[in-house]
Amino acid sequence: MINLRNRDFCITVLGSGSATPAINRFHTSHLVAYKGQRILLDAGEGTQYKMLLYDSLSPVNRVLITHVHGDHILGLPGLFFTYSLNGVEKPIHLYSTSQVIEWFLLFKDWLTVPLTFPVYTHVVPLHGKTLLYEDRELSIYSIPLRHTTNAVGYVLKENIPPRKIDPQAIDKFSIPRDQLGRLKMGMDAILPDGTVVPNNKLTVPNRTPRSYAFITDTTYLPQLAQHLRGVWVLYHEATFSGDQVEEAELTGHSTSVQAAQLAKEAGVRLLLIGHVSSRYVNPDQLVEEARKVFPNTFLAVEGLKIWLEIEKIWLQYPDGSEFSL
Ligand SMILES: [Zn+2]
Ligand SMILES: [Zn+2]
Repeated sequence: MINLRNRDFCITVLGSGSATPAINRFHTSHLVAYKGQRILLDAGEGTQYKMLLYDSLSPVNRVLITHVHGDHILGLPGLFFTYSLNGVEKPIHLYSTSQVIEWFLLFKDWLTVPLTFPVYTHVVPLHGKTLLYEDRELSIYSIPLRHTTNAVGYVLKENIPPRKIDPQAIDKFSIPRDQLGRLKMGMDAILPDGTVVPNNKLTVPNRTPRSYAFITDTTYLPQLAQHLRGVWVLYHEATFSGDQVEEAELTGHSTSVQAAQLAKEAGVRLLLIGHVSSRYVNPDQLVEEARKVFPNTFLAVEGLKIWLEIEKIWLQYPDGSEFSL
């Protein structure tokens, strides 16, 4: 039975389909809740409906859009229309390619109600891994992808100090409490008699920061591994099965096996595949072939919640089933 000790980092899959509609698969969208922030990644059709069904329509404060194709953006007008009807006033930061920002600036004047909240737009560069946002607790990066139009992926990573205080060492060296702040900043401790105790004798390496990457739509880019090293949860598109390498390349997409190869190379903890073509009525085949390369592969199904705890990752499915690793 799921028993969460930390509820401060959760990914909810709102939509998992690809460009053409499929029964039971809405277009792409994920919602990330992290320590009071609500971050929407892509907003395919039906996003607001799925938010209502699997989470809530509480305002998001950031929207990260990968590219201008309709299956990733057409839910945004509906969501922003509803937010305006509800009188949302908190600002929303919108990050994406210049095409998406231009499209937003067009549609916002045709919503039939004026937006009740400010939207701050940020054009994401298309060269190299770029830090887009940073606060004390979270960093957001963009990574350029290769698709049939300009596209970017995103990495969300919590900010934690590289080392943490070792309580046993604090007792052993009788470190006064007023020195703990210095230690947290990476400085050495100074005892009342002037003795300096080095920071590395009083601290130990911290845990690895929790992180999540959202990579869609793209051809297979093995060089992404260097940017995804050690990510906890990698969402990677798998539009096609492993035998459709040429079609994937031609259409700017990846196969499930390629997604698994990237996950293996990058050493991620969990791979979530989605954006599966509507031709696959049952995507289990894609998961099975990916698991032969990377065993911790799971299918993005709508309503799936992934909780990133300090120690474990929990998968909680809408039918009540759950799994941890
Ligand atoms: Zn797409
Ligand atoms: Zn696309």
